[in-house]
Amino acid sequence: MSSNTDFALAVEDLSVSFDGFKAIDDLTLYIDRNELRVIIGPNGAGKTTLLDLICGKTRATSGSIKFRNTELTKMAEHKRVRLGIGRKFQTPSIYENLSVFQNLEVSFPKGRSVFGALAFRCDEEVKAKVQAVAGDIGLAGKLRAEAGLLSHGQKQWLEIGMLLMQEPELLMLDEPIAGMSARERELTADLLRRICRNRAVIVIEHDMDFVKQIAHKVTVMHQGKILAEGPMEKVQADPKVIDVYLGH
Ligand code: ADP
Ligand code: MG
Repeated sequence: MSSNTDFALAVEDLSVSFDGFKAIDDLTLYIDRNELRVIIGPNGAGKTTLLDLICGKTRATSGSIKFRNTELTKMAEHKRVRLGIGRKFQTPSIYENLSVFQNLEVSFPKGRSVFGALAFRCDEEVKAKVQAVAGDIGLAGKLRAEAGLLSHGQKQWLEIGMLLMQEPELLMLDEPIAGMSARERELTADLLRRICRNRAVIVIEHDMDFVKQIAHKVTVMHQGKILAEGPMEKVQADPKVIDVYLGH
């Protein structure tokens, strides 16, 4: 048995109600450090709401969310970011008029320089970090390009890169491959497999071929609860899951 402190994320008995409607209903979920977890389930299951609760966009009605054993439920959203939680929303929020380099540069966290707590940014340190992240997201050859001119897929990767600049220990992505070409989907799978090596990653996705390629474990949500959880093969063969989701 692992103790609570070993988890990247421990969600326990979590609920949220909107005008009496329980969008998340007594949900318990544990995510390991270095784990890539995919959450699937029908529309309205509560998947996005769960990410909203973890990042602090929405406040829980009851229950607990611990990130590396620190209780989050009453913590402000920006403090959760500082603790190492990164969240990508469905529509990319990049600076279209800035270059790829500049988009990554402005995402470098202030006050985390090797020289100490001061808000001091060593140019060389920032540049090296930008180059490393650009390599990770496949945009090393596009650093001078204006972000607005990138393809849809490249914009999505740039936004992931902007989150990686902050070295999050938990990264959450809501439907990251929506609208991507087959080739872009493949490259995104490679990217996610690379970046989960030193952090926990939660991905919400509908494309089962993609889920199969990336998931360490799959959680199936339905009506604010967990319907099934485990390796992809097990979840796919579960009659409950076929009934409410995969059979459609
Ligand atoms: P999913 O991402 O799985 O499709 P959501 O988390 O977006 O589902 O939504 C779950 C349910 O909660 C839906 O019925 C949705 O209408 C409702 N919901 C989500 N956010 C709010 C909100 N801020 N106010 C009222 N209802 C909400
Ligand atoms: Mg959603």
